[in-house]
Amino acid sequence: MKNIYFLGECMVELRAMSEATLHQSFAGDVYNSAVYLKRSFAQISTSVVTALGQDNLSKKMLERFESEQLDTQFVFAHDTKVPGMYYIETDEHGERSFIYWRSDAAAKKIVDFLTPDLVEQLSQGDMFFFSGISLAVIEEGARERFWQIVTQLKNAGVKIVFDPNYRARLWKNTEETKAQYHLAFSVADITLPGVEDLTTLYNVHNVDAVIEYLQKYKIEEIVVKNGPASVVTKHDNTLQSHTIIPVKNVVDTTSAGDAFNGVYLGARLSGCTIENAVQLAAKAAGAVIQQPGAIVPKDIFQLAMAEAAI
Ligand code: ADP
Repeated sequence: MKNIYFLGECMVELRAMSEATLHQSFAGDVYNSAVYLKRSFAQISTSVVTALGQDNLSKKMLERFESEQLDTQFVFAHDTKVPGMYYIETDEHGERSFIYWRSDAAAKKIVDFLTPDLVEQLSQGDMFFFSGISLAVIEEGARERFWQIVTQLKNAGVKIVFDPNYRARLWKNTEETKAQYHLAFSVADITLPGVEDLTTLYNVHNVDAVIEYLQKYKIEEIVVKNGPASVVTKHDNTLQSHTIIPVKNVVDTTSAGDAFNGVYLGARLSGCTIENAVQLAAKAAGAVIQQPGAIVPKDIFQLAMAEAAI
């Protein structure tokens, strides 16, 4: 059985439905990707690597992971911390705004839980995924150990996957981000950047510039996401541009990139060509953006995917 590990943070989501009603759910980039991967490729063992607390919301979050058939062996319960949380509201023009409470979240402690024995287990995996958000969440003092772990996994033959997913507010300054991203690109076998993510950091404004910027790293597989415009891949020096069919009824683009990542990686782990993997991933992302929220109802997602032939 193929297996993939997603390291990062899942948060409690509070969505304003009306003046008096909040809808409570769970979301976070790596978790979203894990969910969409598992829903599309049930045969792949999909694990979330994170830390929660011992509170009731943490228990519900864990139950949610399990209800999505995710492996929770690497979901740890911190003694005193609780999960991060965010509030989202959409104004009358469709503009979304967020408030976060995550600076003291349990997930920031994830590296502390990864004992040498557990790292040894992780090194039996096929893929290990982390994002720019995961990097920002890991405490500064734990970064050195994190990179040691990633290097150990890479040396053991695990494919290292990195999505830069840049969120400026999570970083002290761009120098700090760039130093961490340099380490990530240096070790990555697969990267899935969105053009917008890298614009502020490296002054790259289009797909070609992103590919050009990443030339200096030895990344086997580069997948550049550019919204509805295109996806461009580079694998073993072969550049391919893939056409995306724009979705007309875009309701909420939250987690489009996450769904894309999960399904793309699931497809690649299942032996699909890059071309087929992109088409399936785009289909998933297209389905997700036609519904509100990061995680769309399972039946709606599965119906949309059933129409996609591999
Ligand atoms: P991110 O969510 O990381 O910013 P993008 O905006 O590039 O990433 O979107 C990720 C993927 O979602 C795209 O590669 C594409 O497949 C799909 N997508 C995004 N917007 C649209 C759209 N309007 N119509 C169809 N597909 C879309």
